[in-house]
Amino acid sequence: MVQLSDDYMMGLALDEARIALDEGVFPVGAVLCREDQVLGRSRKTMISNHLNHAEMNLFHQVFSGDYAFSRNNGLTLYTTLEPCIMCFGTMMHLPITRLVFAMADAYGGCAHVRLENSPPRHFSRAVEIVGGVRRRVASKLFAEFLDTTAEEFWLTGGASHFQAAVRAELDEDVLQRR
Ligand SMILES: [Zn+2]
Repeated sequence: MVQLSDDYMMGLALDEARIALDEGVFPVGAVLCREDQVLGRSRKTMISNHLNHAEMNLFHQVFSGDYAFSRNNGLTLYTTLEPCIMCFGTMMHLPITRLVFAMADAYGGCAHVRLENSPPRHFSRAVEIVGGVRRRVASKLFAEFLDTTAEEFWLTGGASHFQAAVRAELDEDVLQRR
């Protein structure tokens, strides 16, 4: 039952990622939910801005101004790619208690960063983390982006761990179809 709901919500995040891709932007989409209620949805915008990640755009959308959410509200963040250190760190400051992502980011993903040596605020912070939900669909969008982008960073092999992971995912698809 939970899995069905996660699949559905991730579908909304993937819709956002598809819009980003159509705009020529790295296709990450994100959705914030309070149980079954969608509070906001967003995607990565602009190419040359390191702050405009899908999750940051979403956080500004939902949490700018006063808000009454607490950690008891069951807020879940859905994102099509494992969050980077900026987005993961910001999430830890917000009353979000569950993170669901599609594809792990072998290059810069921080969802499983170890917090044992961090100060008490972070050390005691409990977030349930689920990875791999609709991973194939997300990786196909990334592959499509890598095949079509004109950005120097990607064309010269930037984030090579990530690019290799996307290709490996697709190779696996080809093998399974044989
Ligand atoms: Zn980020």
